[in-house]
Amino acid sequence: MPLDGPKNPPKKKKDEYAEVDYLMCGHCGTPCYVFEMDGSRILEALCMVCGNDEVRLFNLGEEAGPDDD
Ligand SMILES: [Zn+2]
Repeated sequence: MPLDGPKNPPKKKKDEYAEVDYLMCGHCGTPCYVFEMDGSRILEALCMVCGNDEVRLFNLGEEAGPDDD
């Protein structure tokens, strides 16, 4: 049987990542809009308030929990 059928590989959706509008600075808790991401990974980020540029200290802004109110 010749494999002559049209191949339609399912496209992987990259939209699985939530759109990130901002990052929360884990240092001072300020939303930061100066950042660079690759998918869901933070490449670079800079907090304009406290000067934090450690990407590990930033959190995705989507995680908005009112438990700290
Ligand atoms: Zn900060």
